[in-house]
Amino acid sequence: MSNINIAIDGPAGAGKSSVSKEIANILGYIYIDTGALYRAIAYYTYSKGVEDFSDTKVVELLDEIDIQLRYIDNVQRVFVNGLDVSDYIRTPNISLGASKVSAIPEVRSFLLCLQRDIAESNNIIMDGRDIGTVVLPNADLKIFLTASAEERANRRYNQIKDTPNCPCWEEILEDINQRDYNDTHREIAPLKRSDDAILLDTTNMNQDETIAHILSLIREIA
Ligand code: C5P
Repeated sequence: MSNINIAIDGPAGAGKSSVSKEIANILGYIYIDTGALYRAIAYYTYSKGVEDFSDTKVVELLDEIDIQLRYIDNVQRVFVNGLDVSDYIRTPNISLGASKVSAIPEVRSFLLCLQRDIAESNNIIMDGRDIGTVVLPNADLKIFLTASAEERANRRYNQIKDTPNCPCWEEILEDINQRDYNDTHREIAPLKRSDDAILLDTTNMNQDETIAHILSLIREIA
């Protein structure tokens, strides 16, 4: 039987990565967090002084970027030109930068082959915004995972509230709303549910319930 490809799309903070990671662990699949690829490009361009993430400058820099995903102790790490940048790509600034660079067509095509290559030779669960619509249109199972913006802000806030310089809840909500807007309004590969994706609204579901539900869907096809 060929490799199983599972696509999980949805807005920022819907819990895609926590849920996907856990399911990948349970099933022994590889989890691919595609947001980390856009974040890595945003991080690199920012580190080169392109603080406005302007299209032309970002595109120029693509020529000098080599991105790789590696798995260390089963955890995805993203490398840019041989350097592990995984610990630097989760700041609010890089989140917004990722959402800006991801609207650039050249950036999206730059990352497309990388994502498809990994999916071709492994059982994978891949999360992002356009996995079911663009990256893996023939995925075996597609899920569109969502929750209200307020609930997503609650979850993000609870994850990071004890970290230094944690933004307040209102700032988190604003960031989520801004990224939702950017992701759904861009011309290329906007965030949208693929016609054949199963909609899962987790506003009133906890993580264990969500995982159990998705596992039951996977068991139907794998
Ligand atoms: O998933 P995460 O929040 O880490 O993604 C960061 C940003 O990268 C998103 O806001 C989105 O703009 C972009 N992205 C994308 N397509 C993907 C994954 C992420 O456009 N497949």
